[in-house]
Amino acid sequence: MATKPLDRLIFAQGGLCFFCNMPLPKSEASVEHLVPSSRAGSNSDDNCVACCKTINALLGSMSLKEKIRVVLNQNGKFICPNGVGNSQPAPAAPANAAAPAPPKVDNYAVVLADLKKRGASRPRKVETLKSTIRATVKNAKGSITEAQLETLIKHLQVNAKLTIDGTKVSYSL
Ligand SMILES: [Zn+2]
Repeated sequence: MATKPLDRLIFAQGGLCFFCNMPLPKSEASVEHLVPSSRAGSNSDDNCVACCKTINALLGSMSLKEKIRVVLNQNGKFICPNGVGNSQPAPAAPANAAAPAPPKVDNYAVVLADLKKRGASRPRKVETLKSTIRATVKNAKGSITEAQLETLIKHLQVNAKLTIDGTKVSYSL
């Protein structure tokens, strides 16, 4: 039996992320305290789960109650915002292509600011939201792939900024 908490938790969870239930490579894994240490949560396995690093960062020091809300907002289709939940591996860059420049624009911050500014004219349909995000990123001289677009929308959902019900989108900004 593994003795390090992370190894032990990954083993106990059958190698899957606690939240998104996708295979969790150790390099992508971190220990999440359900009741955060900052709120006197214990280090015991009872209070800890292994999960994708990104969701751990998003949950941060939220109270357990807030975390449950975030998880419930996903309607049982929880996908950690790092794309591990996508079944396709990230495409490898062609060997003869120059490495893509790192994004200069923080798409998430730009899109969130734009949605806040829109007030009552926020897109009400998923497809409209997607075109709005593409246009917003383009206006900010940034770029976004379809996969990044999906991840960004999931990120907004995980952060409870928006809720998607079928094709409809609602906001709490
Ligand atoms: Zn995960």
